[in-house]
Amino acid sequence: MSAGLKGIRLAVIGGDERELYFIPEMQKLGAHIIGAGFEKADPIPGMRLAAQQEAIREADVLIFPLYGADERGLIKARYGNEPIVLNQEMLQAIPNNRPLFIGWVRPTLKAAADKMGIRIIETAKLDEVAILNSVPSAEGAIQMAMQHTRITLHGSRSYVLGLGRTGWTLAAMLKGLGARVTGVARKTQDLARALTLGLTPLPFSELERAIGQAEVIFNTVPSLVLDKELLEKTSRDAVIIDVASMPGGTDFEYAQMLGIKALLAPGLPGMAAPKTAGMILAQVYPRLILRYLTAPMTSVE
Ligand code: NAP
Repeated sequence: MSAGLKGIRLAVIGGDERELYFIPEMQKLGAHIIGAGFEKADPIPGMRLAAQQEAIREADVLIFPLYGADERGLIKARYGNEPIVLNQEMLQAIPNNRPLFIGWVRPTLKAAADKMGIRIIETAKLDEVAILNSVPSAEGAIQMAMQHTRITLHGSRSYVLGLGRTGWTLAAMLKGLGARVTGVARKTQDLARALTLGLTPLPFSELERAIGQAEVIFNTVPSLVLDKELLEKTSRDAVIIDVASMPGGTDFEYAQMLGIKALLAPGLPGMAAPKTAGMILAQVYPRLILRYLTAPMTSVE
């Protein structure tokens, strides 16, 4: 049974189609929604539209997209008329004790918020969000791979770099499609688990030797792993789908120079399955909101 949000004012600031499914679910639980950045969306009954500053001032809880913010603090607002920015100036306008939920922010912004006593909860990092979200993310990555390759994934030599929350789901789905999946990880327990699941385990230390075999490469590691040296060894026909958050884990410029198709794939859940992704938010957020709204600053992290 979901937690009730009766009378709680939620500012939903920016987002994409996911939020259009998420907002009515919050309303069903009794929340009042103040929407910023939804001027161009079909009206949602009961949602009050406001400017970003007004929404921030008036709400009890601030919800920014799971997508996060870029290096300038720009927030995705697919239906907004104006750009929405979460920067230090905007943080200063946030009244005390307003929890701010967002997928992730740059460490510098998080540090600035900490100094101001603003609690930012980076939801994309929470296991419960990341694991559920890995399903639409993996489907989206596979959809992109299908669009950009000239081979079937069935029978393909597909490499999954990084076996974390997204990597495991992706590897399992590729396996289900009949791909010959190599799981690349640095921890011995992940490599052992990969073997038990019928993947070919490969330590990162051996990737340079083996990468020339890969036809489709999915990267989930949020650090530069596909660097110049590895790209040199990669087949020019391979397709790289980089799922890791911006800026991804690929030297895109160098890949382009070599003629390797490499694509950064942000916002996959919103692209592949906005309804499911919105319902995932609706499943997880009520409990998080109540937990962070009622807890003193120091008791939860
Ligand atoms: P995760 O559970 O933390 O998994 C990350 C994996 O990368 C782990 O297996 C980790 O291995 C490995 N790793 C990290 N740094 C490494 C390094 N320097 N060298 C080798 N391996 C390294 O994260 P996740 O939830 O799967 O998410 C992965 C990335 O995808 C994140 O950037 C996330 O924001 C992004 N994401 C994007 C979308 C989208 O729509 N594009 C959707 C979901 C997630 P260890 O355990 O050994 O550290």
